[in-house]
Amino acid sequence: MSEITLEKGRLSQDLLKRLRDYYLPLVDPGYIDNRWTRWRNDPRIIRYVAKKAGETGAWVIYDPRTSMIEEIVTSTKGEGGEFLVSVMDALIARESLVAAEILEGDEEKYRWMVDYGFRPTHRHTVRGFPLVRMELSTAVYFERCGLGRSVKASSEELVAIERVPVAQTREDIGKALRNLVGRLGGLARFVKPGGTVVIKPNIVSDHGMKEGVYTGGIVTDIRLVEALIGLLLPVAGRIVVAEGSSINRSETGRMFALYGYDRLADMDRRKVRLVDLNTDRLIEKRVPGGKRMTSRKVPLTMATADAIISVPVLKVHFAAIASLAMKNLQGAMPPLEKYMSHFFGLWQSLVNIHLLIKPGLTIVDGLTGLEDFGPVSGRPKRMNLLIGGTNPVAVDAVAMRVMGLDPASSPPVLLAYLQGLGPIEQELIRVAGASIEEVASPFLQPEINLKGGRDLAIHASRACPGCSGYLHFVLNKLRRPDPRDPTRLLIDRVFEPKVDIFLGPSTDTPVNPGTTNLFMGICQQHHAALGTHMPGCPPHAEVILNSIFSLFPDVERPKYADETEEAKLGRMLNEVLSTQG
Ligand code: SF4
Repeated sequence: MSEITLEKGRLSQDLLKRLRDYYLPLVDPGYIDNRWTRWRNDPRIIRYVAKKAGETGAWVIYDPRTSMIEEIVTSTKGEGGEFLVSVMDALIARESLVAAEILEGDEEKYRWMVDYGFRPTHRHTVRGFPLVRMELSTAVYFERCGLGRSVKASSEELVAIERVPVAQTREDIGKALRNLVGRLGGLARFVKPGGTVVIKPNIVSDHGMKEGVYTGGIVTDIRLVEALIGLLLPVAGRIVVAEGSSINRSETGRMFALYGYDRLADMDRRKVRLVDLNTDRLIEKRVPGGKRMTSRKVPLTMATADAIISVPVLKVHFAAIASLAMKNLQGAMPPLEKYMSHFFGLWQSLVNIHLLIKPGLTIVDGLTGLEDFGPVSGRPKRMNLLIGGTNPVAVDAVAMRVMGLDPASSPPVLLAYLQGLGPIEQELIRVAGASIEEVASPFLQPEINLKGGRDLAIHASRACPGCSGYLHFVLNKLRRPDPRDPTRLLIDRVFEPKVDIFLGPSTDTPVNPGTTNLFMGICQQHHAALGTHMPGCPPHAEVILNSIFSLFPDVERPKYADETEEAKLGRMLNEVLSTQG
């Protein structure tokens, strides 16, 4: 990647002199003296010395608790740009998704940081000095680190694949589940006698029920959950089936009833109960080693469980590429946390959740998977499989290969891998039971169509699947006859001035201040002042729908979720942001 080495060092007088020189034209010397005192007195702040061919070329002051670059400066005045890019490459290879705090008005630093891929997300004042928080675009991080770099050494993980006979009787499913757990070391490895076990299925929405018939592939098959409870009953003291539905968050109870989950408690009324995680009591926890959202409110049910078993479905996701173990825990968070996770970065949020809530066992329901436009509008695909393991990243890697997908194509799986949560390399995952080759069957992928309209252009250079997938989802709602002129589609409406929508970290055409400009996500946050900005990474579907449909004031906005609730969450998020320093 670069010939730069980063060594931990001390604060030197050379550095102090260099910083005083650097900031002299910009700000009162109290700015750097204040910071210097803090860096000197806080042993947890890391002072990196960047060397090239053994010579000190730059210094980086870094706080690992907040993943914040507090300072980055070259040793030679006037030398910057290219050298700092190499230093940053070395830093993110080591520290992953970092942020930076720079002095407002430091145009030189702002410019090269934006060129590298940092975006200004927050302005605040510390001791009278105005600071800008810069977040690194996740898409840029993936491009610069991706695969082929050194990831924290992952140990070998075991993942088991169990076939289920085509008839999928309850006995078949129960037997396959016992075999799978046996291949992973037996139930005693995961559940202590008398302990509380939380089963976290995926019950995302009501799309899996068509005219009273369960179609499969959208929510976790209740027969698998029944079989799991049957296996756990002789050992566990309490079994909790817990979910917080992601679409229409007030309706988890209705989902439990719709899919028959509410009858699971009848298996043993003393031991089995259901919990709606969207209304559960919460406990605030710091995320060890987390980034961006380093403190999260977690449902008490998840925080106090002796063991958690995650049971996602084998399905495609239009933005995350696959919705499996990593994605399943989004439903384990309360509504405001779910909403905020889009704002601060959904992919990192999923990694953070796994640092907080650690399922000891994941069993992917591959009885019937979902291909094409998952996670709720795809096509069921019969697979007759269970896939299980203890490491969610390794389980996702195997499940994705079974689906004919590259594990590195899923942003949350790749990010978790790059941050050392587990391996995705085939040689680091031992597969027991059936082999991947024996059971693999390619899943149809959604065709992401970002073609604009007559006067509406889309600029999506280098966007990751997050913004691309969500924008496709909203644009599709414009591909219907325009009520003003049914001979053409809404997307082809005449706009004067024309409309430009930008997403991804680069801009293939210069922003034209004369057009109506819409900018998506953290990647386009540096352009926010030039038009309408949709905050988030990726922005929440509601945010995109609101922004794009504001171009069509005479057209009723399609419903995504309960608007009143989403608006309430939006207000709560604003309160959270207003209290941030
Ligand atoms: S803002 Fe959008 S394109 Fe950029 S990293 Fe986030 S999801 Fe991907």
